[in-house]
Amino acid sequence: MNVAMFAPSEPAPPPADPLDYLADVLFQKMGSPGVYGRTALYEDVVERLAALITRHREVDTEVLRFPPVMNRTQLERSGYLKSFPNLLGCVCGLHGTESEIDAAVSCFDAGGDWTMSLSPADLVLSPAACYPVYPIAASRGPVPASGWCFDVAADCFRREPSRHLDRLQSFRMREYVCIGSPDHVSAFRERWMVLAQEIARDLGLTFRVDYASDPFFGRVGQMMAVSQKQQSLKFELLVPLRSEEQPTACMSFNYHRDHFGTAWGIADAAGEPAHTACVAFGMDRLAVAMFHTHGRDVARWPTAVRDLLGFPPNDR
Ligand code: 5GP
Ligand code: ZN
Repeated sequence: MNVAMFAPSEPAPPPADPLDYLADVLFQKMGSPGVYGRTALYEDVVERLAALITRHREVDTEVLRFPPVMNRTQLERSGYLKSFPNLLGCVCGLHGTESEIDAAVSCFDAGGDWTMSLSPADLVLSPAACYPVYPIAASRGPVPASGWCFDVAADCFRREPSRHLDRLQSFRMREYVCIGSPDHVSAFRERWMVLAQEIARDLGLTFRVDYASDPFFGRVGQMMAVSQKQQSLKFELLVPLRSEEQPTACMSFNYHRDHFGTAWGIADAAGEPAHTACVAFGMDRLAVAMFHTHGRDVARWPTAVRDLLGFPPNDR
């Protein structure tokens, strides 16, 4: 029998997480779960991983970097509210007259709830790096037979508060996105599923690639997830960070079929709705996976891994 260690009034601390030991060298708490300041040690590894991914960029890929916010109407048109309304973060502000704004601030000063005066802006927090690219592509007219390839990145937000270091609310996502004919896009995803595993192997990560589904919202969402799996539309590269049974997805390989092509009126060279696919790298999860796998001291990481990431030679 366990001896009670805490007075009845004192809540017991939550059970320790297997990744907690990394927190003090990688992150600074910022008052909300899953939102962290990042140390130089951590950022250096994130940047080296980003450079490694850049080195694998295919020719004729257009580079675009997006801010952490995007147009709300564009995200609505992409179908996000049908799939993940629970995860969306919206920008809101005090948009009233001067006296209405003064009243909201006075309400705060008096200890009241000033947030009742907020109203939504035309912006949402981007939940994935690739959403802004489809309207940009659509504005360029039909896709040429050679297709289009983009290299995109953004700070992403998903409203999933968690104290686990591999489940952030604000995290960095890098993606390669392909737009074109079904054959072209399928071949892109196949190539990247092979290449990404080579990268993970070279980084010394233990992993497996498996069928996956997105966390679609609600009961209808459960059916969408089953269908997504049946059609092999999503694969993930899973690293056993906290356990073999609940591995962490560090990359995903997504085939959207004609979802975005239809939503945005993008036509392929044959005049059909273009197909799209993306390979997504979770930069923060990859960095956490590297520290968990090789330790908190980068000087002691395997030489081959250090060389791959461009660390200066060790004189050990
Ligand atoms: P997906 O769009 O497939 O859900 O996400 C793409 C990639 O972003 C995932 O494979 C993962 O690496 C990263 N990602 C998704 N959700 C989170 C999260 O909550 N925290 C972190 N750190 N990365 C995430
Ligand atoms: Zn994507």
